[in-house]
Amino acid sequence: MTTMNELDLRQQLLDTSRRMVELGLNRGTAGNASVRCDSNILITPSAMPVTEMREQDLVLLDADGKLLQGGKPSSEWRFHRDILKARTEIGAVLHLHSTFATTIACLRLNVPAVHYHIAIAGGDTIRCTPYSVFGEQNLSDLALDALHDRKACLLGNHGMIALGNDLKDALSVAVEVEYLCEIYWRTLQAGEPHILTEQQMFEVKQKFVDYKKRS
Ligand code: 13P
Ligand code: ZN
Repeated sequence: MTTMNELDLRQQLLDTSRRMVELGLNRGTAGNASVRCDSNILITPSAMPVTEMREQDLVLLDADGKLLQGGKPSSEWRFHRDILKARTEIGAVLHLHSTFATTIACLRLNVPAVHYHIAIAGGDTIRCTPYSVFGEQNLSDLALDALHDRKACLLGNHGMIALGNDLKDALSVAVEVEYLCEIYWRTLQAGEPHILTEQQMFEVKQKFVDYKKRS
């Protein structure tokens, strides 16, 4: 039976997938998204352009990745499953082939603390995995390692993963990571970026605690 909660999540998953395309962060069939749905996983289908995707095309998997309802899940269902299993604080997983994140991933660079907003991704760096072919368990294993204590990572020669408590949060992380990668890329073109020190980043993290309080 489809619960109200599930109907709501289906709409949110579709809206977020469309938003990633509208923002120019994904195109065609590139990228995918998932959201925790009670103890199950709601995930986008494989090889379907987002512009053609309808609510009924979304796929429901159990926590182990077994198909419960729908057609073929995203080829990256393994990392969606493994992240949602390992990271109980995380409710949504986004995967993107956005231009600047993918550029840095093709250089196989970790993003350093080039701008203080890197703290939004959970630490002083955003790690990049080695290259591994899409849709395989090895990519998931590498991603899980790179995401340790972080809400984002780059996938070597491939793209980005962004995590959030919910889909809205994950999308805001993805937008920030793309921005950071653009700044890193641009500063590399102009010269040698100054990287913030551990102490400077420590201060930023303290400040962010207050900044997030609404009053
Ligand atoms: P899917 O269409 O199977 O989700 O694959 C897209 C992708 O980005 C693979 O890494
Ligand atoms: Zn991909």
